[in-house]
Amino acid sequence: MRNIFYKYNPHTLSYERVYPSIKQKVWGVFRQLFIGILIGVALFSITDYSFDSPMKQQLKKENKLLLTQYQILSKRIDENERILEELQERDDNLYRSMFNANPVPSSIRKPGVGGTDRYEHLLTMHNPELIISTTAKLDMMTKQLYVQSNSYDELTELIKTNEERIKNVPSIVPLSSKQMKGISSGFGMRVHPIYGNLRKHTGIDLNANIGTPIYATGSGTVETAGWEGGYGYTVMINHGFGYKTRYGHCSELKVRTGQKVVRGQEIATVGATGAATGPHLHYEVIVKERYDNPAKYFFMNLTPEEYEQILFDAENR
Ligand SMILES: [Zn+2]
Repeated sequence: MRNIFYKYNPHTLSYERVYPSIKQKVWGVFRQLFIGILIGVALFSITDYSFDSPMKQQLKKENKLLLTQYQILSKRIDENERILEELQERDDNLYRSMFNANPVPSSIRKPGVGGTDRYEHLLTMHNPELIISTTAKLDMMTKQLYVQSNSYDELTELIKTNEERIKNVPSIVPLSSKQMKGISSGFGMRVHPIYGNLRKHTGIDLNANIGTPIYATGSGTVETAGWEGGYGYTVMINHGFGYKTRYGHCSELKVRTGQKVVRGQEIATVGATGAATGPHLHYEVIVKERYDNPAKYFFMNLTPEEYEQILFDAENR
């Protein structure tokens, strides 16, 4: 169909045919094309919205599955992050302190992962927050694991050059876990069971029956073995490297002053001698002339769970 236009001419008083210019013709073609495209797009959108092709249905299903999988992954990364934090804590507070190595600075342990523009390419996705946060967490964990593994390498080196130290530093519970009946008093400020006043408890009280064997918690030399006032029958071991341990209220002593002992050797038996209300071992760890919390040194023959439980009990009893 072709449009023919006429225009009224007031001079000749007649209608004259008007021929469109090139510009008008081109514009006309474009307009037709544009309307065509618009109708096409509208029709496609309507059908696309109303009926999913089998491929699209499949993709939607897969997308949903992927999203769920991502959520699970994100949770598992969080769990692993917590385990890693525990490892870092033990590394800094136990293993590294055992060798007098400084804790790994937190700036190195928790490095920045760079600006958010790192993940800009992910922003175009349908659900960018979850995917970006999961990717960022994983990036962070990779860096932390790298730092942790470096720290363990360093520790391995320290172990090689500190064999003597490892043998000597107190690192076990002085009673067999089967015979120990728990902690009756932890380290720190406590009301004294006999004197009734608030004073610093310089050790930890481990309950057990009279006669239960007490073991040296590290190798060393017996500094004293005998009666020591309120401590009753007591053994004190000098482990070198600034470490000493004291075992109080014993019933029977199995070592004498000057004797060399190894970790795990029986040195005495549990009693209630001196200022004791009942049978228990009063165990002290002295580091460079200062009392330290003995529970910190119970790590060699314990599972991580047992260790955490003992630390908790020592803090709260
Ligand atoms: Zn005590």
